[in-house]
Amino acid sequence: MSLFPNLLLSLFLLIGVCNGRTKKIEEGHVQMQTQTLNTNPTHFNPQVPPLRTLSSSKRFEGSSEFVKLKYHMGPVLSSPINIYLIWYGKWPQSQKLLIKDFLLSISASDRRVSPSPSVSDWWQTVSLYTDQTGANISRSVSIAGEYADLHYSHGTHLTRLSVQDVIATAVHAKPFPVDHRNGIYLILTAEDVTMEDFCRAVCGFHYFTFPSKVGYTLPYAWVGNSGKQCPELCAYPFAVPGYMGGGGPGQLTPPNGDVGVDGMISIIGHELAELSSNPLVNAWYAGEDPTAPTEIGDLCEGLYGTGGGGGYIGSVMKDGEGRTFNLNGRNGRKFLVQWIWSPILKACAGPNALD
Ligand SMILES: [Zn+2]
Repeated sequence: MSLFPNLLLSLFLLIGVCNGRTKKIEEGHVQMQTQTLNTNPTHFNPQVPPLRTLSSSKRFEGSSEFVKLKYHMGPVLSSPINIYLIWYGKWPQSQKLLIKDFLLSISASDRRVSPSPSVSDWWQTVSLYTDQTGANISRSVSIAGEYADLHYSHGTHLTRLSVQDVIATAVHAKPFPVDHRNGIYLILTAEDVTMEDFCRAVCGFHYFTFPSKVGYTLPYAWVGNSGKQCPELCAYPFAVPGYMGGGGPGQLTPPNGDVGVDGMISIIGHELAELSSNPLVNAWYAGEDPTAPTEIGDLCEGLYGTGGGGGYIGSVMKDGEGRTFNLNGRNGRKFLVQWIWSPILKACAGPNALD
């Protein structure tokens, strides 16, 4: 993949779906009347204010010969992955179902259920990473348990350490299990919960629990709903920074009408990809400092399609109602999820690539 793909070409490309087959119509032959059904997605590469990234030094916008992603001999999640969800705070059922549809779309490889480009196709890039035995990251991801911490057992402000108390409370509540073989724990905080460094340095993070806190070493990730706190940072590009007159041009319509949760989904994807490839922070990362590793999601932050970079998110799709997406999931869902660094292409990759 070239470093600077032809941005203009992607702008002038229009994909019309005719009789179930996809037809590319190039510049000069764009016929809007090919959009006979308003459900036919069109491709576009919107210019949006650049992501005021929380980790700008980690972004490479596509590909770079300078990226030295290395394997440090630790395990990856090569067995079927069991996700244990911890809903912290008050979560409306509709938001839970949306997030669960995304997670359950990772394994679903049935093209009738999730047409290409699908969430499952997107995870394929993640599954290319292996451990020292040559075992790939599993393509099987399921939700193995859920725990609702409705009463904010550790308060409405959490820290990187107290989030482990939230996990401890959950795993000690029967029948929510301690699955230290194939389990990963995903803590999702409601929009009224604040977290140390949230909106300043992070939108999500992953790590593993300390036996002294939880009793076991369990890989986990935390992602918060930024909708009320900092959507322009953590629900980008569905909200844009205030200096561009947030809410003005450049802001994209979220695929499921929920800025906070649609934004979380890309962060969840980012964290799951990194948790799977670096669960104990001793497997796949770039940089010399394991306390600040640059991981396979960090390398592609803000990039969602071909031709991204420099204020462009890349070529993504827009449905008849203007909702922006790049992946299909189960139950007819659509999602906008950032690309992931491919160890084969040595570049950011996603199934909606145009080249
Ligand atoms: Zn990351």
